[in-house]
Amino acid sequence: MIDVQFNDQGLIPAIVQDAASKEVLMLAYMNKESLEKSIETKQTWFYSRSRQELWHKGETSGHTQNIVDIRYDCDQDTLVVLVNPNGPACHKGDYSCFGHSLLEKEVDGKADRFGIFNELEKVIAKREAEMPEGAYTTYLFEKGVDKILKKVGEEASEVIIAAKNRDPDELKWEVADLFYHVFVLLREQKLPLDDVLSVLEERHR
Ligand code: AMP
Ligand code: ZN
Ligand code: ZN
Ligand code: ZN
Repeated sequence: MIDVQFNDQGLIPAIVQDAASKEVLMLAYMNKESLEKSIETKQTWFYSRSRQELWHKGETSGHTQNIVDIRYDCDQDTLVVLVNPNGPACHKGDYSCFGHSLLEKEVDGKADRFGIFNELEKVIAKREAEMPEGAYTTYLFEKGVDKILKKVGEEASEVIIAAKNRDPDELKWEVADLFYHVFVLLREQKLPLDDVLSVLEERHR
């Protein structure tokens, strides 16, 4: 294994990141032994500076973290540990320790930044099945595929116009409109979003 640089106290900072959502979860320190244990067990082990002892994350809370990868930086003195967390990372019960902003910005702390895509796919499927009166999605399904295709075309044109105008506010609205109508189209065609994501993943590899 490559030699990582422990500081004069024998520690290296380890940033823990959610492998799926990429949210930064917590920062803790590892010594040589905890790093070896982490690699060996594929769960996070740290060195507690306050208790001065080896610490298996989740040993009391049950909120262990399964390691996907451990990365080191350009000068080998900091680690990023990519994990699938089994519960909140913060001992205060929060998903991430970093749900606080000095600039008083909203911290959404969403577990999955793309979760809205899943929700949208589900809600559109539900609308198609139940056809609740007055819902716009119901209207699209009632009108049928030609109407949905027309909307996809229109929204794509609106995306082009917004981009030409270099108007980011307009653009984000129009891209959201386009995404939504594409999702309705996928449902009408019975094509799961997963199949689209698989194509992207395969191309990426
Ligand atoms: P746990 O490892 O989740 O069972 O928590 C055991 C102890 O480790 C807690 O009582 C805290 O003292 C400490 N701890 C757990 N998670 C964190 C964290 N994200 N940041 C700092 N200390 C933590
Ligand atoms: Zn560094
Ligand atoms: Zn915390
Ligand atoms: Zn639009």
